[in-house]
Amino acid sequence: MGDVRHYHNYINGQFLPAQSGETMVTRSPGDNSDLAVFPRSGQADVDHAVQAAQAAFDTEWSKVHSAPDRSKLLRNLAQTLRDNINDLAELESLDTGKTITETQLIDVLQAADTFEFYADLAGHIQGEVIPVPGDVVNLALREPLGVCGAIAAWNFPLMFLAWKTAPALATGNTVVYKPSELAPSTTLEVARYMHEVGFPKGTINIVGGALEVGQALAEHPDLAKISFTGSVETGRKVASAAGLTPKRVTLELGGKSPNIVFADCHLDNAVSGALNAMFLNAGQVCLAGSRLYIEDSIYDEFLERYISRVAKIKVGLPLDWDARMGALITPEHKRRVQGFVDRAVQAGAKLLVGGKTPDDPELSRGNYLLPTVFADVPPEADVGCNEVFGPVLSVFRFSGEEEAIRLANDTSYGLASAIWTENGSKALRVAKAIQAGTVWINTYLRVNPYSPHGGYKRSGFGRELSHLALEEFTQIKNVYIDHDPAEFLTIFE
Ligand code: NDP
Repeated sequence: MGDVRHYHNYINGQFLPAQSGETMVTRSPGDNSDLAVFPRSGQADVDHAVQAAQAAFDTEWSKVHSAPDRSKLLRNLAQTLRDNINDLAELESLDTGKTITETQLIDVLQAADTFEFYADLAGHIQGEVIPVPGDVVNLALREPLGVCGAIAAWNFPLMFLAWKTAPALATGNTVVYKPSELAPSTTLEVARYMHEVGFPKGTINIVGGALEVGQALAEHPDLAKISFTGSVETGRKVASAAGLTPKRVTLELGGKSPNIVFADCHLDNAVSGALNAMFLNAGQVCLAGSRLYIEDSIYDEFLERYISRVAKIKVGLPLDWDARMGALITPEHKRRVQGFVDRAVQAGAKLLVGGKTPDDPELSRGNYLLPTVFADVPPEADVGCNEVFGPVLSVFRFSGEEEAIRLANDTSYGLASAIWTENGSKALRVAKAIQAGTVWINTYLRVNPYSPHGGYKRSGFGRELSHLALEEFTQIKNVYIDHDPAEFLTIFE
């Protein structure tokens, strides 16, 4: 799919190869052709990046650069992303396999909006004055943490870069960031924009590589925080490694989110919402509504309409403007997803649509799977309860509010959920009863920089986005000033 790109790490304001000289190759999921060569970094590169970030923190970023300066750089970066939307969207599609329609409408703009949102907030990071009795002034100052590490998954590279670096930089921290080895290209491209926009050297450092880079960050004694997005299994490892040299940890992990359709819903909207919920980015979305619960009395009608629309989803090459679903990230991941499908069939689940590779010869070299829907999923089929991270939906039937809530909460995950009903009281009752970090009512996958994102239960802890993320990247210093002119009281002679 064109020329292979070559990227370096971005450390201390310089574009550098890995100290070992080793490189890795990333492939385009649309046809598995080589897309980019980038550094296979190791401990030495992470150490270099952390030292540079520490020096930038100590000498410049949190001290010399005031909030308006930080704000201006973030705003200029947002504008640069917008100015380069066509190139970035194309590269993001080639690197992740998702369609150009998605990357143009969602990924680049969301990333730009996020940088802009935190540019706005940079000047509003405030402490408190605490009303302590006596002639004293007591201040709670909100200060940056220091050097923050960030480790990202591959499914929304540009958005994660913005979600993690924008609040960290806005609050005066410096950052060492690791993109996933499976889709690092846009992150390494944006490093160039960060350089051009004029972030001081060492403020933001991007280190490419595989899990060794993530491990080195999680274990690093000089980091104040790790912000992690990925699977529950890796999240556990990151949290326990981070605990050895205690540092703050934010975990954004997986999900198996319930999408509940009550009989009194707006049927057309609920059908459209359930398509968004499951098939955006070919289901490779942590928030995917992969358990669809339909109330008894509309079960057949809903499914008939839904399946006829699923069958029409055009699966296509990442740069095909008519395609609505692209490729899965790697051949191995496709095999893993196909394994869920095969086991579901063996366990007796009813395959309503999909379940196989598309026939289109144009797609034969990529990692494509048709959008797939199962009904009558038996409890022993893991497709109904584990995160598939592919375009595979399990549909269940329920009767009444109580059963909907019980089924929705019957999972160790708690990332997202949705409720479709025209009854406002019912919507709020159910929303309060559901154990999840996000509950959408009559919509699905509304994510924006203004609203907090994060999980309940095993889906993680801490929040990204919104003003709440500022708390995740700051610490409180209590300053107590005694201005009572009387002699200092003490029990000592
Ligand atoms: P992984 O957990 O496999 O990897 C996530 C990141 O961690 C990657 O950069 C990876 O490096 C790195 N990593 C791998 N092993 C280690 C380790 N031992 N120590 C430190 N870092 C390590 O997740 P995926 O990339 O496969 O992403 C899919 C998962 O992410 C799904 O479970 C999904 O639900 C979740 N996710 C959660 C989101 C949320 O906001 N809650 C959003 C999006 C995804 P490398 O890739 O280079 O090997």
